[in-house]
Amino acid sequence: MQWIIDQSIKNENRQGAIRQNLETRGRKLVVDSSIRACPKCRRTWEKVNPAKHNGQDVLFYRVGHIPTYGKKKVVCKRCK
Ligand SMILES: [Zn+2]
Repeated sequence: MQWIIDQSIKNENRQGAIRQNLETRGRKLVVDSSIRACPKCRRTWEKVNPAKHNGQDVLFYRVGHIPTYGKKKVVCKRCK
């Protein structure tokens, strides 16, 4: 019966590893690095692939939706 226990432990380990990878990949930090905060309108925005966003190359987030703390301050397209 020992091999069954070993097998289940191996499976548990594998599942744990997969879960860890998903968490790292889904981490907000990765997305946040491309988000800019406009010091004029205080909106957060991000350059995006126009092909994926109806031809828009910039995506705006609602005020207060994403904390501006730690974001690069870059004046957005609309305020220029
Ligand atoms: Zn702006």
